[in-house]
Amino acid sequence: MPYDMDSPTSVFARRESEARSYCRAIPQLFTEARGSEMFDADGNRYIDFLAGCSSLNYGHNDADMKAALIDHIAGDGIAHGLDLHTDAKRRFLAAFESHILKPRDMDHRVMFTGPTGANAVEAAMKIARKSTGRTNIIAFTNGFHGVTMGALAATGNGYHRGGAAMDTSGVTRLPYDGYAEGVDSAALLEQMLNDPSGGVDAPAAIMLETVQGEGGLNAASAGWVKRIAKIAQAHGALLIIDDIQAGCGRTGTFFSFEEMGVKPDLVTMAKSLSGFGLPMAMVLVRPKHDVFGPAEHNGTFRGNTHAFVTARVAIEKFWADDGFQKELAGKAERLTEALTAIAATVPNARLKGRGLMQGVDVGSGELAGEICGRAFEMGLIVETSGPRDEVVKILAPLTTPAEIFDEGLAILEQAARDVQGETRMAAE
Ligand code: PLP
Repeated sequence: MPYDMDSPTSVFARRESEARSYCRAIPQLFTEARGSEMFDADGNRYIDFLAGCSSLNYGHNDADMKAALIDHIAGDGIAHGLDLHTDAKRRFLAAFESHILKPRDMDHRVMFTGPTGANAVEAAMKIARKSTGRTNIIAFTNGFHGVTMGALAATGNGYHRGGAAMDTSGVTRLPYDGYAEGVDSAALLEQMLNDPSGGVDAPAAIMLETVQGEGGLNAASAGWVKRIAKIAQAHGALLIIDDIQAGCGRTGTFFSFEEMGVKPDLVTMAKSLSGFGLPMAMVLVRPKHDVFGPAEHNGTFRGNTHAFVTARVAIEKFWADDGFQKELAGKAERLTEALTAIAATVPNARLKGRGLMQGVDVGSGELAGEICGRAFEMGLIVETSGPRDEVVKILAPLTTPAEIFDEGLAILEQAARDVQGETRMAAE
């Protein structure tokens, strides 16, 4: 029997689980992508300011990564090697050591986990618990760390936690930097930990994102992160920085924390780590906390060999010197400038985030959704974040050429104007 071809997308509605999400607002059938552009089956072009939710920081199908991967496959390079020594892994580790860890004076070891961000977070939480012999992990309001059970416990969003349909435990969630006006949340945390009746059990770790990607682009100040690091140290807790979304250059430096003067005990990485959108995740672990015995935390897909090939190229191409990082600073300024203009079109709008992880809080999820919907009609893929989806969030590939960057930002500004014009007309 021939496949049902009545509509190019009908099989998704018929057979794909209701859990699908991004494709609901962006229902096109995509067939090709290059750089910062995606193309649908009818040949329509879209500028991609979602970038696989920061999994495509170097754009789609980077030519050098693609060539290295094709060579690797054509030469019958190892496709799956469990955690055996492979040439691809050796070259990735050597590049990561020379260009990322050593220049930043980081003595961390690299623990490969299953290939998703949540896999890395689960491993980090387990390491902290095993290393300290404690169970409690402190996480923060609006934090998002994944939806597997351990990571979910640390995730603030009640909708996601509700999906567990059971209690998630072992985590105390406290206010993030700036969560409540006039409240110094680092001082509050310190006071609660120092108070025998503070109600917070001695933590195995304090885990945070320096910019909360899913939580609405809340950017912690360097001062706050530094104080949290000090509190963690004073209380014998590990500092875990979840750099899954904010890392790999997204905030303007390879790690989001590197200009904050902290040395996290554990760093979780995934998303853009492979550089090519391939699944790959790892935890950076300071040697004294490298506590798992052989295979104690195992998994079949610890280290995706194809991802090692592209990740090595990404490190060598973009991070071997400071040229790329300098470009990012200029782009971030351009983004702030454009978003300031967009925010000026929306009453009471606020700029959020930092680096190339910025957005505009437009006050309501409805308005943010309408702006993104209108932008999509004009050929721009952009999404929302925040507890009520009220932040229009820009995650353009970091490699987006200036003219495409400007074109996308102009579409976004037009979309904001169009939607509000319609709102005003409807009200009149
Ligand atoms: N941590 C952070 C900061 C994230 O943004 C995400 C995903 O958005 C995760 C963890 C979970 O990663 P994954 O979706 O690959 O499991």
